[in-house]
Amino acid sequence: MTSYGATSAPAVQIIPLGGLGEFGMNMLLVACGDTALLVDAGVMFPEPELFGVDLVIPDLALLDRYRGRIAALVLTHGHEDHIGAVAHVIDRVSGPIYGTRFTLALVEPKLAERGVDADGRLVAIAPRQRVTVGPFELELLRVTHSMPDCVALAIHTPAGTIVHTGDFKIDQTPLDGQAFDLHRFAELGQTGVLALLSDSTNADRPGFSGSERDVIGAFEEIFSSAPGRLLVAAFATSVYRLQVLVDLADQFDRKVAFVGRGMQHVSQIAERLGYLRIPPGRQIRDADLRDYPASEVLCLCTGSQGEPLAALPRIAIDDHRHVHLERDDVVVFSSRVIPGNEKAIRRVMNHVARRGADVVADGEKHVHVSGHGSEEELKFILSLVKPRFFVPIHGEYRQLARHARMAGLVCPGTTVIMAEDGDVLQLDGEGVRVIDRLPAGRVLIDGTRTGEIVDEVLRDRRHLAADGLVVPVVAINGHTGALEQAPEIITRGLAVDARHEALLKEAPDLLGRAIERTPIEERTDPGLLKERIRAEVQSLFRKRAGRRPLVLPVVMEV
Ligand SMILES: [Zn+2]
Ligand SMILES: [Zn+2]
Repeated sequence: MTSYGATSAPAVQIIPLGGLGEFGMNMLLVACGDTALLVDAGVMFPEPELFGVDLVIPDLALLDRYRGRIAALVLTHGHEDHIGAVAHVIDRVSGPIYGTRFTLALVEPKLAERGVDADGRLVAIAPRQRVTVGPFELELLRVTHSMPDCVALAIHTPAGTIVHTGDFKIDQTPLDGQAFDLHRFAELGQTGVLALLSDSTNADRPGFSGSERDVIGAFEEIFSSAPGRLLVAAFATSVYRLQVLVDLADQFDRKVAFVGRGMQHVSQIAERLGYLRIPPGRQIRDADLRDYPASEVLCLCTGSQGEPLAALPRIAIDDHRHVHLERDDVVVFSSRVIPGNEKAIRRVMNHVARRGADVVADGEKHVHVSGHGSEEELKFILSLVKPRFFVPIHGEYRQLARHARMAGLVCPGTTVIMAEDGDVLQLDGEGVRVIDRLPAGRVLIDGTRTGEIVDEVLRDRRHLAADGLVVPVVAINGHTGALEQAPEIITRGLAVDARHEALLKEAPDLLGRAIERTPIEERTDPGLLKERIRAEVQSLFRKRAGRRPLVLPVVMEV
């Protein structure tokens, strides 16, 4: 038991593990006495330079300090940056995993895929419902965002109430009629809130973000004028966007096909649970697209960020089994550009244009609306909650700083704390202070094998000692896609034996030939090419040497 001193009020600690000063990877610990409560367990998608790495999660070593004390995990909503790491933290949590019904429905198959048995620990709770976790009383509050069933948290602790907004915007006309629970936020503000932790993603945008319905007008125009196939790339989890598009397809009499694994997966779950309504007979399989005239179909595709293996990027280079673009087709990018993906997205757009299809992106038409609140929404929440302490969360440092300044204007009496990942904030009767800085870091996950973990700067000796690191270096002509010289293969930490030596002799040649066999559009696209090289080299080492090294391709365009 942590000692508080005999007379002072019980103290509560808040420790952000991820999501402060960066986009994604949201995870935060609230601790009091013997009990800790984990809020969200998210991932971040790696920057394009981190090839060979599928996911980035917070360094969980920090949780080891709380071993045996983390009594529950609560999830605010089903986006990857909040639930993507549940499988990695579940062993460190001794109690239930709370969330709304839809959130847990998205978590469950992820756990199954990794062979994790949740064993009845996924416990669905509804907004305004309360559960007790040690000294905490946990309450969910409905908020609006870009997907259904999102909540904020009121964590009632012995030191006072902590409100954690999760991700939100204030959508006054939500598609599913499930309104933001402003009343409860106001009530909590009235009773007194110790600390507010609030989403800062759009703190640098003025005004209001707008309703999910705001895209309907632009899409109506597109539906009424598109002569051929209509393809829309969006995040699979943007269920409201999918609903808008399914409804329009029904109105304009187009069949709907979900293209790409994520789209099919999420739409199935959402439909099964009643969060996505598809009129009977409206949906077709992507394999059946060829049976319908181009002007009578709508494809909802993955790949809005230019991810090399997702549906739209494959379709754009005419490498998809069921969808082939033609002149007159229209491709809409209906999502935000995650920083770092600009180049990959532009490449996909260029490939689409090269096929003669028309590209529509947010900016020229209002085909996307953000799920995060802008300045006026953030101020509104601040003024409702009027916390004693305010900690901006979710965002890069400049957004956190912007949000902090707003708090100064809206509630001058509030103390603002600019925290960073790993800071241990202690709140008690006396005030708030940073009592410790724990080493916060990132862990990179190589998804080719379950549980394979490599540290950011590849310091994880265990992994490297077991299977090593392979860096294929390929110099390619950016225009013709021709190899400028034979690929080089650099290895580190691979145990050397006869099989391995033979493989190293042949590998550059085998890789060179594999590259020459790939289509030119793939060879001249570094993103796609890296993915191809990675797959080829991985399979070479697996088949020929029985090894699964980490492969980090380097492509030099000359
Ligand atoms: Zn979200
Ligand atoms: Zn988020």
